Amino acid sequence: MRQGLTVAEAQEAILAETPRLGAETISASDAAGRVLAEAVVSARRHPPADCSAMDGYAVRREDLLGATADAPRSLPVVYEVPAGGQAARPLEAGEAARIFTGAPLPPGADAVVMQENTDQGTERVEIRKEPTPRDNVRDGGEDFEIGDRLIDEGVVLGAAHLGVLASLGRTIVSVHQRPRVAILSGGDELVEPDRPADGGRIVSSNSYTLAAQCREIDADPVYLGIAEDTPEAIESRMRAGLGADVLVSSAGVSVGDHDHVRDVLEKVGCRLRFWGVKMKPGFPLAFGVIEPTGQLVFGLPGNPVSTAVTFEEFVRPALRKMMGHRAVHRPVVRATLTDDYKKKPGRLHFVRVNLEREGDRVLAHLTGNQSSGVLTSMIRGQGLAVVSLESDGVSAGAEIDVQILDGTFFDRAERGF
Ligand code: AMP
Ligand code: MG
Repeated sequence: MRQGLTVAEAQEAILAETPRLGAETISASDAAGRVLAEAVVSARRHPPADCSAMDGYAVRREDLLGATADAPRSLPVVYEVPAGGQAARPLEAGEAARIFTGAPLPPGADAVVMQENTDQGTERVEIRKEPTPRDNVRDGGEDFEIGDRLIDEGVVLGAAHLGVLASLGRTIVSVHQRPRVAILSGGDELVEPDRPADGGRIVSSNSYTLAAQCREIDADPVYLGIAEDTPEAIESRMRAGLGADVLVSSAGVSVGDHDHVRDVLEKVGCRLRFWGVKMKPGFPLAFGVIEPTGQLVFGLPGNPVSTAVTFEEFVRPALRKMMGHRAVHRPVVRATLTDDYKKKPGRLHFVRVNLEREGDRVLAHLTGNQSSGVLTSMIRGQGLAVVSLESDGVSAGAEIDVQILDGTFFDRAERGF
């Protein structure tokens, strides 16, 4: 087992052991946000044929050369083509057909004159403008042709993808499965939120944070409850989670007398790959793989900020990889730090910052107390400023990288353009 990895080494080790989950077939109407596990190739042409882009008259351009408001041409209206209809017969020389938006262009016609450039006649129509070639005609296949590769495997399905799938007549679609994540909390001091928190007891908030972090990315949390600090209690709860794709436990993974998680993990068949990451918050992180199932196991530290931050940095990218995402990491912006931040070299620090837009710049303000017990710092901060392992701090005014945790930072109260 390796010890004391850098954040990058730990992420690399985890992602190397993380599989992409297999595909499942689901209803296309439930597929928003899911990652496509097939390439979508068109078996249709869209639009299926040339059609009108306007309400007006289908014509043969050669009949209308030189037509103007002062010198209009009059043509007989020989039939009508509504949207969803078909031309009764090909359009002959010297004829016009009434046509509506989306209706197929009659054979023989090569342009549509919008009704605003006519007298809108029914028996005959007076046309006051010479059409350009294929005026107001939407080409058959202008959106896609049979055999076009329309959506690549690995694409995250959004509204337009689902609209295109519908135009293809696809009601089901193959997407990557969502991982099931078993969540275990451990500690004699812990109680559920609806129990009295007195006599040295504290509420187990981590289970709720972790379950929400899973749901936020559409992974499926399964709560295993609170285990007391005995190897037996931890083992029996942990075994209940061995059928999931990922097991996440919080607390009991450090070096104290009551920290049994690592021993129990080995007992249930987990081969630990590493323990300890040079970061703050969150040094005592264990990662392993259950053999032979390949289930990933994360033993996260128990302090609430450490739990949340280590999930962000290590569990979240793994879950996103499992779900088929290519972009597994959070976005990062450059920001100007507005306070001094001192640290000792030796660990990379993730510092909670509150972000503010100032013209083209983003300002990052420290949220205050950076203790790993102050979970409210995660409410106040929309991002984590990254202060490198080697550095001994950052001065106010410096440019730093900030990982964005709260995408609503990009939403705006004003239009912005
Ligand atoms: P430990 O890793 O067991 O030493 O726990 C570190 C700190 O995190 C202790 O102060 C615990 O009380 C706290 N802690 C552990 N588990 C949880 C939890 N599920 N919710 C909130 N705090 C926790
Ligand atoms: Mg404990």
